[in-house]
Amino acid sequence: MFDKYGREIDYIRISVTDRCNLRCLYCMPEEGVSMVSHEEILSYDEIVTLAEVFASLGIRKIKLTGGEPLVRRDLPWLVKKLKVLPGIEKVTLTTNGLFLKEALGELGEAGIDGINLSLDTLNPEVFAEITRRRGLDKVLEGFYEALKYPEIPLKINCVPLGREDQEVLEIAELARHYPVHVRYIEMMPIGLGRQFRSVGEEELLKQLREKYGTPSPCQEKLGNGPAHYYSFPGFFGKIGFISALSHKFCGSCNRVRLTSQGFLKTCLQYETGTDLRKLLREGASQETLKRAVEQAIRDKPQSHRFGEKDTGEVETHMMSQIGG
Ligand code: SAM
Ligand code: SF4
Repeated sequence: MFDKYGREIDYIRISVTDRCNLRCLYCMPEEGVSMVSHEEILSYDEIVTLAEVFASLGIRKIKLTGGEPLVRRDLPWLVKKLKVLPGIEKVTLTTNGLFLKEALGELGEAGIDGINLSLDTLNPEVFAEITRRRGLDKVLEGFYEALKYPEIPLKINCVPLGREDQEVLEIAELARHYPVHVRYIEMMPIGLGRQFRSVGEEELLKQLREKYGTPSPCQEKLGNGPAHYYSFPGFFGKIGFISALSHKFCGSCNRVRLTSQGFLKTCLQYETGTDLRKLLREGASQETLKRAVEQAIRDKPQSHRFGEKDTGEVETHMMSQIGG
């Protein structure tokens, strides 16, 4: 499936819930989050029906996200159903890790193809400040448990907030000691993220170079996303950067998003897309759903305009509602 700018769309992020057991400063407010009722959220069966439509149009990879996907019951059941859809090659998950340890066995059995663990700091006090909850110990238990499943590739995602006590270089140590890739994600000016300074890739690379020596840029493409990677001397894993602002990658964007309420969102920054839940619940045929998805993908915006003044129909939702 190609959009009108010739980009091939083969990857979808599917949010299974708006709810979360953390309240990261840049993602969700402490209070005043209006909880979406269960009826408004797509059922697993509805997600599978839509995933079949996506797969028939060329989607190959699915990332399950949220809110926190592991707060929704029986997630491994959904993984199993998605894994057997013709055309789907990979089903992966992004999680804050609080429930990861308990879920790993079943996720492994269901055939999960990879896990991204979001982890912004290794300092328990700073973790509690950034997430407004305690629980770094549980997240780390999840991390160590995940290392016992070498067949499930593990990546760590860290969003620098521009505060010194976050000590983001400590996160790189995980790639030094363990076979995991660590990626630094530039803060995006969406929702609560607008209040923070984006820490650019050059700034971080300089600090990493001073501490660990000169890295070599990784030539081969790792994974399916916009990250680019470096190898540092003596590291098991690689260090990656996802820099939507300083290294805009819209020209090679391959993704769309499905919110937990069934809205197919075609660009992170804009509210463009189509309401698939409405069609689904009106009893639309597979053909009608297909045509709606095709149309929405064809009209995917050319690029984001973060940092520019006139940004038109900008996204007003929080990242927890979009799925990251
Ligand atoms: N709760 C899960 C987690 O934390 O991985 C999945 C949902 S979360 C919205 C997905 C990713 O989006 C996380 O890695 C989070 O750090 C990232 N994120 C949230 N707000 C962001 C922002 N404003 N800029 C960049 N990344 C953001
Ligand atoms: Fe929850 Fe993930 Fe958002 Fe943090 S980043 S509040 S863990 S959804």
